[in-house]
Amino acid sequence: MLSVEEARQRMLNTIPVLPSEKRRILACTGHVLAEPLHAAENIPPFDNSAMDGFAVRAADTKGATQETPSVLSVVETIAAGYAPTKQVTTGQASRIMTGAMMPDGADAVVMQEVTQQAADKVKIFESVEETENVRFTGESVKQGQRVIENGKYLRPPEISMLAALNCANISVHRRPTVAIVSTGDELTPLGEPLEPGKIRDSNRYGLYAQVEEAGGIPIDMGIAPDDEAETERIFRTALAKADALVTSGGVSVGEHDVVKTVLAKLGEINFWRVAMKPGKPQAYGIADGKPIFGLPGNPVSSLVVFELFVRPALLKMAGHTELFRPTFKATLAEAITNRDGRVNYMRAILKVSAGEITAQTTGPQGSGILHSLVLANGLITIPTSTTLQAGAEVDAQFLF
Ligand code: AMP
Ligand code: MG
Repeated sequence: MLSVEEARQRMLNTIPVLPSEKRRILACTGHVLAEPLHAAENIPPFDNSAMDGFAVRAADTKGATQETPSVLSVVETIAAGYAPTKQVTTGQASRIMTGAMMPDGADAVVMQEVTQQAADKVKIFESVEETENVRFTGESVKQGQRVIENGKYLRPPEISMLAALNCANISVHRRPTVAIVSTGDELTPLGEPLEPGKIRDSNRYGLYAQVEEAGGIPIDMGIAPDDEAETERIFRTALAKADALVTSGGVSVGEHDVVKTVLAKLGEINFWRVAMKPGKPQAYGIADGKPIFGLPGNPVSSLVVFELFVRPALLKMAGHTELFRPTFKATLAEAITNRDGRVNYMRAILKVSAGEITAQTTGPQGSGILHSLVLANGLITIPTSTTLQAGAEVDAQFLF
């Protein structure tokens, strides 16, 4: 059996990064930058005032106090968006607004709150140093500077920066389209009555949501029956439509597990037994350069295997360089025994208080007990064949 790390690394090594495309800036949220961004302009593009106040020569305010103000002549008012028309010379000031261009001759701004203007004179009650309250050309970003690296996920600050640098069309990685198929004769779509022996198809919906949450574009391909020919037809159609295929069920050792046979026909598929609980049997491979994930049918296994394997793969396809959720240490609130030779990914409630994180499992942890994930906000990793006491440290990660 492969360890989770081994299986995941082998899988990730084969995952293609999708090519880039140009998108309009407002369609770039949720995408990853495909080439580094170099600044074509300075930010700010000119020296400007950080305050509403008066642009002055700092030397003219030396020694100014409430009792002995400096009195300067106001030569003009400069609003944001307009260029100054007058120079400031000794004994002079220009009324200036936040973001307005600094006039020649002035080297500082006195904030309005420590001044008093009457007609074309202003009293200054506090001295300023040279450069005070001035924002200089290029102090935020210098022309030519490498501002954002390729591989960076475009969050709102990056989008704002792209706009600040006049980038209307941006080269980003394509987000993967992911076809999702549930398999099993027992599955009933929502809205139809449950006949004896049948259950609801929940995996397809959970996987759909997981694909979206991972930044992929899900394509719902419905339910495949436990019939080889029909399953093959559906899988092939699905694969033709998408960058990746995710199936659930049918990869175990049951008589009606036709998925394995069909997947083996589609491409280079490994049938892996990964040393993890939930989710031992799973299939992974590539067909026509497209990743295929055969997830186990049990609802918890399907969700957890997606989280640990498919999510990082989709992130890689979309150009991300950070593929995993951060892990940290949590303190167990209860004793836990794992008799298994497989690492147990237990569903847990992680609580942060006073700088410490505690973990409490969410009750029965069977791989069919979906509620164990509904109640959880994280996963904790219980190593193989071990008993941990309450107070012991475990690896943990927040989910979703
Ligand atoms: P399988 O791997 O196909 O043998 O399925 C394992 C278990 O998961 C069985 O109890 C199935 O009924 C259940 N199962 C399979 N697919 C789904 C699904 N899409 N939604 C809910 N349960 C499923
Ligand atoms: Mg099945």
